[in-house]
Amino acid sequence: MSKGQPKVLVVGGGIAGDALAVMLGRAGWEVTVAEIAPGLRTGGQTVDLRGDSRDVLVRLGLLEQALDRLVPQRGAAWIDRTGRRLATMPVEAFDGNGYVSKEELLRADLARVLHDAAAGARVTHRFGETAEELTDTPTGVRVRFRTAPPEEFDLVVGADGAHSRVRRLRFGPEESYRRPLGLAHAWFTLTETADTPALDGWFLTHNAPGRRTAEARPGHPGTQEVGLTFAATGLPARQDRAAQFTLLDEVFADMGWRTREFLAAARTAPDFALDTYDQIQVPKWHAGRVVLLGDSAWCASPLSGLGTALALRGAAQLADALESAAVRDHPDRLPGALTAFEESMRPRVRAAQKLFPGRVRQAAPRTERGIRVNAWLIRRLQSGPVQKAATRMAARHGQDPSRPDRRTSHAA
Ligand SMILES: Cc1cc2nc3c(=O)[nH]c(=O)nc-3n(C[C@H](O)[C@H](O)[C@H](O)COP(=O)(O)OP(=O)(O)OC[C@H]3O[C@@H](n4cnc5c(N)ncnc54)[C@H](O)[C@@H]3O)c2cc1C
Repeated sequence: MSKGQPKVLVVGGGIAGDALAVMLGRAGWEVTVAEIAPGLRTGGQTVDLRGDSRDVLVRLGLLEQALDRLVPQRGAAWIDRTGRRLATMPVEAFDGNGYVSKEELLRADLARVLHDAAAGARVTHRFGETAEELTDTPTGVRVRFRTAPPEEFDLVVGADGAHSRVRRLRFGPEESYRRPLGLAHAWFTLTETADTPALDGWFLTHNAPGRRTAEARPGHPGTQEVGLTFAATGLPARQDRAAQFTLLDEVFADMGWRTREFLAAARTAPDFALDTYDQIQVPKWHAGRVVLLGDSAWCASPLSGLGTALALRGAAQLADALESAAVRDHPDRLPGALTAFEESMRPRVRAAQKLFPGRVRQAAPRTERGIRVNAWLIRRLQSGPVQKAATRMAARHGQDPSRPDRRTSHAA
């Protein structure tokens, strides 16, 4: 390990990567972030500021900046093909721990807050860059980059998302770790025109038989964030946009509500993306001086609603483990620190990966009856004798099950 200032390479400048970069940069590490995109990634829907997300942003002194970027939200509503509401869940439901919260911001805005803080912690960002090869040496990991000259680091962190290259380079092919949930999801930003129906702060979901779901939720002023979910385990190649749009046309064409408008808007959206809903399960997150963090290690899938919370908490646990073991002054303690990090995160990850019972079916019901039952359940859970139990269950969502002092996910 380098004498004095240890060097860490973080591959992936997303939520987990930049959060860790802020922490290690402030703790005196020399931090380089290699992000494959040509600039900070935009796109993505809203993420909430409850539980772990809030705790870690408070700790970083970034909560106020995140709160300045909130998207105004009033709640979620499930609608039929004509737009008639079947069920609603306001942001106040379940003591604020419901499906949509008052405190949500776009993923891209949170990424910007973290990126700027990392820059302020003297972190170097290299965009359009990635690791091509990782070779262990007696003193570190030698990294061959796509464009920059090779360089040795004391620690390499793979924070490069669910399709992680670092994971592939160090632990083998994605197929060994990917657990498909049987659904795929397209998402993009729709720019409103004079004819676009206003959302008025409501996140609208239309389910249709055959496991198809179309959603629109509030974004920045003048925009809506659209999601299209459907049953699939495989997809056309990522570069083949034409095949992707043809597939979406086939699945959603007759679905009613605003889906025709969405299919047209998808084609011109600058941030269109399509992927399967998967979980990533890796039995060990570190090998030598390489460690995985965030979705690359444990993606619980967007259906968990906990991807950002786990990414932020994971970054904090890794930074804490390195700090507690005083790895900067005692390089031989790195393996112990990485083991401690894993032990501290596993219970949370296991809990997050256990999706709410029926969550996959509920996201995209198979039949008209399933859709009606879903709407009935949403209404029922918010009233009558089950309401208290549902509120308790919602408060526990995403909390570390091994901790005796489970708090509501509001707690700062
Ligand atoms: C553009 C975008 C939009 C998203 N939208 C949503 C959403 O709407 N809802 C949701 O639940 N989750 C969304 N996610 C996923 C969500 O951000 C993560 O689940 C969560 O925040 C965990 O963060 P992460 O840092 O592990 O992964 P991510 O936030 O996905 O960050 C990974 C980063 O690694 C970069 N990267 C990938 N491959 C390489 C490589 N080979 N070399 C270098 N860098 C690489 C990516 O460009 C990205 O910046 C989105 C992710 C991205 C990148």
